[in-house]
Amino acid sequence: MKLTNIKGQQGRARNLRVNIVNRNLIIVSSTTTPTANHVVTVEYDSEGIIHTRCTCPWAMNGNVGCAHSIAALEALAAKRGRALSFWKTKDDARRQKHRTFYLAGKRAEEGLWITSRRGL
Ligand SMILES: [Zn+2]
Repeated sequence: MKLTNIKGQQGRARNLRVNIVNRNLIIVSSTTTPTANHVVTVEYDSEGIIHTRCTCPWAMNGNVGCAHSIAALEALAAKRGRALSFWKTKDDARRQKHRTFYLAGKRAEEGLWITSRRGL
């Protein structure tokens, strides 16, 4: 399933507690269970493609762009003074004229596009 409400998901991500262990491993609080955490792993390849894995049910069902993965990627970007936006299509991302990444999904059409700009 393709994530439809990206802005809503970014809003949820903003409320999560994020603990960056390293650039590939991030612990993120659960949205639904205050006493639980999820583990997000992030892999980067040379083509600007990002692969995330998360322990939450949404991700385990094969979906890309859970709130935890978004929170993890935003926290990693913030450390480098960058802010991220997420887009459904490459055209939407290209229009921003910022550095673009692709968050890979299980199937090609399910991925999300990410643009990175200088943070506030
Ligand atoms: Zn998740």
